[in-house]
Amino acid sequence: MRQLLVEASSLAAAVLFILSLHWMNHPRTARRGVLGGVSAMALAVVAALLASGIVNWGWIGLAIALGFAVGIPLSWVPLTAVPQRTALSHAFGGLAAGLVGTAKYYLWLTEGPENLTAFRMVAVVAEILLGYLTFTGSLMAAGKLQEVRWIPQRPVTYPLQNASNLGLLTIALICGVLLIFRPVELAVLFPVVIALALAFGVLLIIPIGGADMPTVISLLNAYAGLSAVAMGFVLDNKLLVTAGALDGSSGLILSIIMCRAMNRSFSNVLFGAFGQLQAKAAGGEAKVAKAETAEGAAQVLETASRVVIVPGYGMAVAQAQHRVRELFDQLRKRGADVKFAIHPVAGRMPGHMNVLLAEADIPYDRLVEMEDINLEMPQVDVVLVIGANDVVNPAARHDKGSPIYGMPIIDADKARMCLAIKRTMNPGFAGIENELYFSEHTYMLFGDAKAVVGELVKQLSGTSGMH
Ligand code: NAP
Repeated sequence: MRQLLVEASSLAAAVLFILSLHWMNHPRTARRGVLGGVSAMALAVVAALLASGIVNWGWIGLAIALGFAVGIPLSWVPLTAVPQRTALSHAFGGLAAGLVGTAKYYLWLTEGPENLTAFRMVAVVAEILLGYLTFTGSLMAAGKLQEVRWIPQRPVTYPLQNASNLGLLTIALICGVLLIFRPVELAVLFPVVIALALAFGVLLIIPIGGADMPTVISLLNAYAGLSAVAMGFVLDNKLLVTAGALDGSSGLILSIIMCRAMNRSFSNVLFGAFGQLQAKAAGGEAKVAKAETAEGAAQVLETASRVVIVPGYGMAVAQAQHRVRELFDQLRKRGADVKFAIHPVAGRMPGHMNVLLAEADIPYDRLVEMEDINLEMPQVDVVLVIGANDVVNPAARHDKGSPIYGMPIIDADKARMCLAIKRTMNPGFAGIENELYFSEHTYMLFGDAKAVVGELVKQLSGTSGMH
């Protein structure tokens, strides 16, 4: 009976894990996806407890309490800090896998060498290598994104870096293989593999700039998933193998999508040291951007019949999404066709803009993907850029020397007029100037996005009686 219950709850959990990933595909079903994932995990824990027979409830209770104590405050972070929070979760996942692998190895070693079969040793070595490198790598990534003082944001590079990193990894792999063949005689190598994996995690991340961190985090997600697969084999838990494989493959797919959206290759992200300060072209003539007032901008918007709003990281920082919704309502009231242009890497994490706009109840059918909106751009009267920068930088199309060259962008410069809201002329994430702001058709609305959009709404609602 117990066995049947274990099998049934494991199967239900596996199905729910798959469905929850499927539900995550669309904002409309994303909440269901979260609930599905949480229920699947709860079922998985129940199944594991039932399967293990003898359970020390004291330890289990303590682990659950500690999990809540860390997890609940982690859920309070603002949306802009979610990438580093996610990195921390991967770090914990990697550490858990590493610790389980370590415990199991020493347990089997003391129980009798016949337990250390080649199959188990392959799984244990894979688990500790991936687990511990994910642990330190993810901690470094979280630190870089959080701009922790003692972790440099910029890529740290030195001569022969890639060769020495590869050398270190090779030594770790050789030690791991030796351990698989001589798990008892060469037990001394076990802590060596752990130390090398921990060191490799740090060294892998320091040459990567803050700008590439979100991509690296989803790659570390894939490593954490693979270490969970290995852990599933070590613990002989099929559900863990399934969940780890789902986690690992979704992390990998997400990194591929992000690389494509930024026109970068994996090797370029991992070894390219992107995000280094670009030498400024000397002797260029000083360019001037035209500033506009909210009043003037409101007059322009009032007469526009096709408006496209391009949200970016600045809208997230300012938490301006609810004001943007009010602006959307005002413009719609005047009969304007208003659409939102969504760039796949706008903001700081995939889906960042979708989440914010959904929070403000903007209808999903108003959100248009980059490729589709670009076809319409030449017919658009006004494009309103709200705290977006790199994702509308035309240099990506033509400036071969630019670090974002080749990244697909939203063609805001092709609309009849562009209004751009940001606080200063400071660059965005890639650290480069944006020629859109100096274009003949662009007018800058300087200020915090929430305040400026609020002012636009005020101006428009003040004149609504005239129409
Ligand atoms: P961005 O290039 O980082 O620019 C954001 C702009 O918002 C800044 O220029 C800033 O200018 C402005 N801003 C900041 N706070 C503001 C506020 N309170 N009010 C008004 N404006 C404010 O953003 P993006 O165009 O969204 O591009 C995203 C970047 O992140 C890309 O380079 C992308 O490759 C990178 N990235 C994204 C992801 C992802 O998954 N989304 C992953 C990896 C990398 P001021 O300081 O002058 O206000």
